[in-house]
Amino acid sequence: MNNNFERLCEKYLNVYEHKKHENMCVRCGRCCLEKVTLPNKKMLVTEKHCPGYDKVNKRCRIYENRFYLARKLYNVNCSTVEHSIATGQHPQDCPYSPPDYKDRLIYG
Ligand code: SF4
Ligand code: SF4
Repeated sequence: MNNNFERLCEKYLNVYEHKKHENMCVRCGRCCLEKVTLPNKKMLVTEKHCPGYDKVNKRCRIYENRFYLARKLYNVNCSTVEHSIATGQHPQDCPYSPPDYKDRLIYG
């Protein structure tokens, strides 16, 4: 197999996998709600979205560069789904959450 062909396969496979991954999100917007850590280590989920969240279109306005721009523009820590799950900050019933995962969220 020549290298160009291999590179093309890799490129399109990555795009396909990426799309499949992105399509798992049902755009509920809950992971973009601001949270407050309580003394008992639970996290209170407020009704306030991150300023980057576009409620009409149910999308992040800065999605492609969110990890860099959220801090710069809104003083918000935008974390990956993986980090959010590892720290219990991600909704338990999100399609990305593993079956045995338990969040530490409390909805106010
Ligand atoms: S909680 Fe899950 S489904 Fe809802 S917006 Fe976040 S990633 Fe998407
Ligand atoms: S910057 Fe992050 S937390 Fe804010 S709306 Fe975008 S994805 Fe959600």
